[in-house]
Amino acid sequence: MNFNEVNFEFAAGTVKQLPQSDIPEIVFSGHSNVGKSSLINKLVQRKSLARVSAQPGKTATINFYRLRNCRFVDLPGYGYAKVSKAEKERWAGLVEGYLSSQRKIALIIQIIDIRHKPTKDDYDMLNFLYQCNAPFVIVLTKKDKLKKAAYEKRLDEIMDELQDYEGVELLPFSAVNGDGMDDVKEVIEAYIEGFEEEE
Ligand code: GDP
Repeated sequence: MNFNEVNFEFAAGTVKQLPQSDIPEIVFSGHSNVGKSSLINKLVQRKSLARVSAQPGKTATINFYRLRNCRFVDLPGYGYAKVSKAEKERWAGLVEGYLSSQRKIALIIQIIDIRHKPTKDDYDMLNFLYQCNAPFVIVLTKKDKLKKAAYEKRLDEIMDELQDYEGVELLPFSAVNGDGMDDVKEVIEAYIEGFEEEE
């Protein structure tokens, strides 16, 4: 799959604006500032297709990027404290609307900063995905911020913190040095293939 052939397609601010789901979708979800935009940009080798947030939590829309045989879907980052309650509710409605509208979701990439224990919002999302049997993996970002020993210790800890999600793949990643990128690409390709075979 060619990850470099990519175009920004659409930003949806309401459920009604969601474009038709006609090709497999790879969904990126995570807390604001977790490194979601950096992951997307690294995968497609573009500096700023997804906007790396100087101001976290600014993405209030679901953004769609078109690749040749799939779409990347960038969900708004959640958990940003400085956002009003009404705005948070709007985001929640938008994300729930997206996830529950029978779309061609091939894979959800749930993103967690490897250095920190998952937040309540992370667990809420993970529980939701796990309970509804959604196809998802967890990408652990900012791997480069830990030295080898600290990384190994933290990996053990986070495996414990995520042990309830049996069988869910954990993929450590760094947007700074590209560590783990091939694994993320392989997983994306495998899920798209699996999805197309099922159809
Ligand atoms: P988003 O809000 O989830 O889209 O997160 P961004 O991609 O905007 O990243 C938030 C901040 O973390 C930015 O300052 C990025 O440069 C930084 N960042 C993201 N990924 C990594 C990574 O893998 N390693 C390091 N060291 N910093 C990262």
